[in-house]
Amino acid sequence: MILKEFIKETQKNQMISTLLKHYKVESVKWGYKNIKDHAHYNVDTGTLELSNRYKRIKDSQVKNFLTTMIHEIRHAMDSKKYGWKNFKQMYETEIELQIQAKKHIYKDNKYEIEAEEFGQKNWKKWHTQFKKEGLI
Ligand SMILES: [Zn+2]
Repeated sequence: MILKEFIKETQKNQMISTLLKHYKVESVKWGYKNIKDHAHYNVDTGTLELSNRYKRIKDSQVKNFLTTMIHEIRHAMDSKKYGWKNFKQMYETEIELQIQAKKHIYKDNKYEIEAEEFGQKNWKKWHTQFKKEGLI
């Protein structure tokens, strides 16, 4: 019996494209980058960056992979909704507000809080679905 220790690249890519399609952010600029996190929405360039460091992901990393993907997709959704330049401006204004209030520019940032809640709220249903489809 072969233990499915790793999620293969094709399955990972299939999950990514399903998520981008479902949340209608395929039109948002995206690309691969050598980054530590599974994904990152780059506010400055309006690009959803996907890590090319992990060709395969371990079973133990699936939750983190899904929550990160969905969190970053939420930023991409905002970017699509407002236009990425407007969203960049809004994000910078939010950082200014947190600085003035002597709060944390990331932890207290409303866009980060929304994105994190979105990821936490939605990862499980995707986990269930991808499991059903045999992707994980
Ligand atoms: Zn974020």
